[in-house]
Amino acid sequence: VTKTDASEDRSFRASYEDVGGLDKELQRIREMVELPLKYPEIFRQLGVEAPKGVLLYGPPGTGKTLMARAVSSETNAAFLHVNGPEIINKFYGESEARIREIFETAQRRAPAIIFIDEIDAIAPKRTEVIGDVEKRVVAQLLALMDGLKNRGQVVVIGATNVPDMVDPALRRPGRFDRELSINPPDRFGRLKILKIHTRLMTIDSSVNIEKLAQMTHGFVGADIAILCKEAGMNAVRRLLPEIDFSEELREEDLAKLTINMNDF
Ligand code: ATP
Repeated sequence: VTKTDASEDRSFRASYEDVGGLDKELQRIREMVELPLKYPEIFRQLGVEAPKGVLLYGPPGTGKTLMARAVSSETNAAFLHVNGPEIINKFYGESEARIREIFETAQRRAPAIIFIDEIDAIAPKRTEVIGDVEKRVVAQLLALMDGLKNRGQVVVIGATNVPDMVDPALRRPGRFDRELSINPPDRFGRLKILKIHTRLMTIDSSVNIEKLAQMTHGFVGADIAILCKEAGMNAVRRLLPEIDFSEELREEDLAKLTINMNDF
């Protein structure tokens, strides 16, 4: 399954432990999404409407997709990933059919999360330049959200880097009426993210994570993930000449291989 299609999969698992520096945001999204997915009867009993749509906004690579994944994994909900621009670029009439299909699948597989990445591509604000396809797709999306019967059991999470570009019609009550801004991490957030991404790496005592957190001002989570991966590859490159491949690799020799501060 390519990213083009909403891939319904429970295989890619992420936990709350994988998300760094977004404790408050995670708390909010858990209240808004996890609670109604898990206990719709509480909302029903209280006569409180569970949100149908939540809009996450913030710069690329800050963990919007990761958070949505984590909530779906932790609640065992199906995760349907929709890419905004790709849906728009379908052939005539296909976009609406595809969106309808995704909502049908979600309702069949409930509890489910429909994650729409770059939702601004589907629902741009400036009505003057909006094309025919976009108009039809927004109308379809709104109709489908209005028609969601199993409230709380299907939640649509939209993500955008440009919240101001999103059609205000989408942000009305009963639609994406909850918003959460996901900001780049500060030093403490970066420290947590660095710890997450070095968790499985064999780093030696020269690696000063606090220092790395200080040095990476301006890095978002995705940048930190890449930094750690590259440090690992640098270590491999550095260590390769030291390995004697003519002999069988022994456990005790392998145990000496570690990643150091200079690899970062
Ligand atoms: P985009 O707007 O580009 O889709 P995004 O906000 O959805 O970006 P993700 O796709 O969630 O960002 O992040 C990409 C990868 O970066 C994640 O899979 C994860 O490895 C890492 N990452 C990003 N943010 C965090 C974070 N807060 N904690 C830990 N890892 C993170």
